[in-house]
Formats: sequence, C-alpha cells, structure tokens
Amino acid sequence: MNGTNTLDLGEWHWMMHILQTIDVGLVVVDREYNVRVWNSFMENHSGISPEEASRSNLFEIFPDIQREWFQHKIDSVFLLGNRSYTLWEERPYVFKFKNYRPITSMADFMYQYTTLLPLKSTDDETSHVAIVIYDVTDIAVNRLALKDANTALEALSITDQMTQLFNRAHWENQLTNEYMRYNRRHDPVSLVMFDIDHFKKVNDTYGHHPGDLVIKAVAKTVLETKRETDIAGRYGGEEFGVILIGADAASTRFFAERLRKRVEALVVEADGHKINFTISLGIAEMSKEMKSHTHWLQCADAALYSSKRGGRNLTSTYTMDMKLDEGH
Ligand code: GH3
Ligand code: MG
Ligand code: MG
Repeated sequence: MNGTNTLDLGEWHWMMHILQTIDVGLVVVDREYNVRVWNSFMENHSGISPEEASRSNLFEIFPDIQREWFQHKIDSVFLLGNRSYTLWEERPYVFKFKNYRPITSMADFMYQYTTLLPLKSTDDETSHVAIVIYDVTDIAVNRLALKDANTALEALSITDQMTQLFNRAHWENQLTNEYMRYNRRHDPVSLVMFDIDHFKKVNDTYGHHPGDLVIKAVAKTVLETKRETDIAGRYGGEEFGVILIGADAASTRFFAERLRKRVEALVVEADGHKINFTISLGIAEMSKEMKSHTHWLQCADAALYSSKRGGRNLTSTYTMDMKLDEGH
C-alpha cells in the first residue's frame, strides 16, 4: 500500500483494522476493474460481502455505476498516475446506496464525494486504483436546502406580496434594463402605466378590505392578459406598470384595450356587495428621444393623465404635445 511493499504483519493487521472500521468506503480495483478490496462500509451499504465482491468485476457487481464515465475516470488514473475526483455537485453519487440516516431523510440516496488514488507497484507502475467514497449526504442536503431557501428569499424580495406582481423596486430595475437594452439593440419595447379609476371611492364606500380585493383582481387580470415575456409590476397603491418586450405602440394598444375591457367586466364581491370598477391607461413606446428610464415613465404617465382627463376608462398613447410631470 505504501509503494515499498515492506509492511510487516503487525502493520498489515493494523491497516486492515483501519480499513474495516473507517467511515468511508474503500474499493481497490486492478487494471481489469476486478475488485481486490471492498471494506465494511461498502458491505454495510451495498449488502455485497467482500468475499462476493473480491471475485467479481466492479461493473458487474454494481451495474448501477455509469460505466462509460467512471471507467474513463479509472483509466485516466492508470494512465497518468494522478489522483482524480468525483464531486456530488456534478454527479450525486457513484455507488447508489440508499440513505438510512434519519437526520438526512430528505435524501433518498447517499450523496458521495470520491477520490481515485493510483496505487503503485515496486516498478512505479500504477497497478491498482483505490476508490475512496465519502458520504456527504448531510452537507449536500444542507447545501441544497440553503439554495432552496435563497431562491425563495430572492423571489420574496422581488415580489409584491399582495398581488404577486413584481414590486416597485424590482420592476423599476427591469425598466432600467429594458431602457439600456433598447439603446444597444433598438428592438421595439413599450410601457403601459395604469391606475384604478376613483379608487378612493371604492375604499370610502366599501372599506379597505374590499379595496384590497379590487387591487388583487386587477393584478390577476394583468397576469392573465399579459404574455410570458411582459414584465408586470405594482408601481404604487393602485398603480401598475407593464413592460411589453418587442411591442410597438400599436400592438401595445391591443393589449391595453383587452386589459381595460376585462377589468371593466370584472365584478368583485365583498361583504355582500358587487363592486364594479375601471382603469385608465397610458402607453409610451420607447424611442431614441427618451433620455432616461424616468423620462420614459413620465411619457407613459402623461398619456395616463390624458386618459383620466378624457373621462377615465380609456387608453391613450403618448404624443410629443403632451406635457410631462403634470401628475394626476
Ligand atoms: P383617480 O381616478 O384620479 O385615480 O382617483 P383615485 O381615487 O383612484 O386616486 P388617488 O390616487 O387619489 O387614490 C388612490 C387611493 O388608493 C388612495 C389610497 O388610500 C388608496 N390605496 C393605496 N394603496 C391601497 C391598498 O393597498 N389598499 C387599499 N384598499 N387602498 C389603497
Ligand atoms: Mg393613483
Ligand atoms: Mg386611481
């Protein structure tokens, strides 16, 4: 084992003891992939005894191993005489073992990290390869759980909890991104801003909770009306924005009108009341004249204001004669 072949019997027993009791798997194969060592870790997890294993070819007693890939690994250790590894992040396991540990019951199988070591004979040739198998299920499960938690947290940090649309901060980031993308590519992209008409009256007449239900119903309608690639956000209390990727003002108008009509047809039932409501919309197609994403937003807002002034429940498209920053 140490390459000098000078182990005395005492040392040999001592080493065999370690080999058997150590909490890692150890398999030694020769150039024909015949198993020469198969320790108790391997026996305990596979149910295959060392006697049975040591008479057999690794890939025959363990047909689950992805042969092409693993044989190539072993071959390169024989050829180059260098160590090699397999990582659970790339392939969860080499030997498929059921996972028995209660603490890691989240995993059905044992995640493994393995090291392949060249074992040299006296003439410095690699005659055998030792495969050391580490059980890394605990680490893997924790790491995967952390990753899931991070993904969930990230989603939470960009989502408006009431409507499940993007929150203002994330939506505005997306708007900035689309603004910059336009400056590089000049693909059409349009913005729709819209606001619920006389929403104060909904709150005043029916209360805050029915008001919330109205906001949620509008958001749901947006999600049902927009395309996968469109980016919808809750911009303020009862104000929303949708970025339509690849759409010019004319096609955006189809979307806006469909949305407006769907909202107009909605009835929200709350506390025994049937509530009807409408929205006003403003469209601004991105152009070279837009100086910033804020400018773009102001143009859509000016169009929205024009819809409000025109009587509400309307869609307007920004034109150069509209004054910016008027508010509504
Ligand atoms: P306009 O047609 O001009 O838009 O009239 P409006 O009454 O909708 O206009 P305004 O923007 O003045 O009023 C919006 C109201 O929305 C004021 C605010 O109290 C209410 N609001 C904002 N966020 C929420 C919310 O999350 N839930 C509820 N129920 N009300 C909200
Ligand atoms: Mg408003
Ligand atoms: Mg309003």
